Amino acid sequence: MDILSMTFEELSEVFKENSIQGFRAKQVYEWLHKHLASSYDEMTNLPKALREELQQKFPIIGCKIVRKQISTDGTVKLLYEISGDDYVECVVMKYKYGYTICVSSQVGCKMGCAFCASTIGGFKRSLSAGEILSQVYTAQKEIGERISHIVLMGMGEPMDNFDNVMRFLTLVTDEKGLNLSMRNISLSTCGVVPGIQKLLDKHLQLTLSVSLHAPNNEIRSRIMPINKKYHIEELLDMCNKYTKETSRRISFEYAMLSGVNDSDDCARELGRRLKGTLSHVNLIPVNEVDESPFKPSSPERVQKFVDILASSGVNATVRRKLGSDIDASCGQLRQKHKKEKRDTE
Ligand code: SAH
Repeated sequence: MDILSMTFEELSEVFKENSIQGFRAKQVYEWLHKHLASSYDEMTNLPKALREELQQKFPIIGCKIVRKQISTDGTVKLLYEISGDDYVECVVMKYKYGYTICVSSQVGCKMGCAFCASTIGGFKRSLSAGEILSQVYTAQKEIGERISHIVLMGMGEPMDNFDNVMRFLTLVTDEKGLNLSMRNISLSTCGVVPGIQKLLDKHLQLTLSVSLHAPNNEIRSRIMPINKKYHIEELLDMCNKYTKETSRRISFEYAMLSGVNDSDDCARELGRRLKGTLSHVNLIPVNEVDESPFKPSSPERVQKFVDILASSGVNATVRRKLGSDIDASCGQLRQKHKKEKRDTE
């Protein structure tokens, strides 16, 4: 396991096995997770010989920024190179309540949603906890501001990398590290029902987002292959169970795809399904992806959709579109980078 993925207890244990003094574990852990050191050379209170030993035995994995784009609205998009030829991206958004980072949990994605750029080019691998953490640490150092909120809404399906994502959550909320509040973290899933059950069993205070994107099986299966495995009824039953047991509101993501899922009938059907549940619907006019045919619904269509949901007593808001001038949606920048690299080769 890479050193950035280890909990304090695990790091103490391997130091002990390597006959490194106990108090060094605390020093190194704090350098990594509190002071965000990306190399042993920064750990100036460690003797040089120890720094060299550590470098040899426990190299620190990290993200290298290969592209940075700043939107006119202040949104920053970073493309990272991780372990050689892998690229992941993250976005930092400034809100009234602080800086939020959107991180990736996998390189590519297996889920195959028709409108999503992360899925193009397929799945490469899952990221370690340290590799997910490093996205946050590197961004915080790059922008020079404290990041207070995290959304796991970048590339990849968190439920398909469950253990590493849980480990990431443990580390990022550790009081010996960045000490973020679990309440400031959101995890988004395309609807992996057993994953939601496993998350429920952990009793965490985070916010669960579910990418719904359609009011029925017919439309949902067409744009989200996961729906063929877990039907919308099964998914919404699990969501109800989740809110009952945690008393926490679920956020449903709904990308508005013109002519596909944005009709008045769709809004009514969605309203019927969600009526009386502890939920919130986030409507997002779909971000256009070069390789896919979907177009965003018009602002009037989106407003009508909100109104119909409201008349069914379902709370819905339109997500402010940040960073649309810099391809700031899932997998877009990585796609562009890969294409340009191919063109120059
Ligand atoms: N796999 C997880 C998390 C990553 S995607 C999930 O599916 O929830 C984060 C969100 O962005 C999801 O709601 C996803 O459906 C949405 N999304 C993907 N491509 C999009 C696009 N082109 N426009 C708008 N939203 C998109």
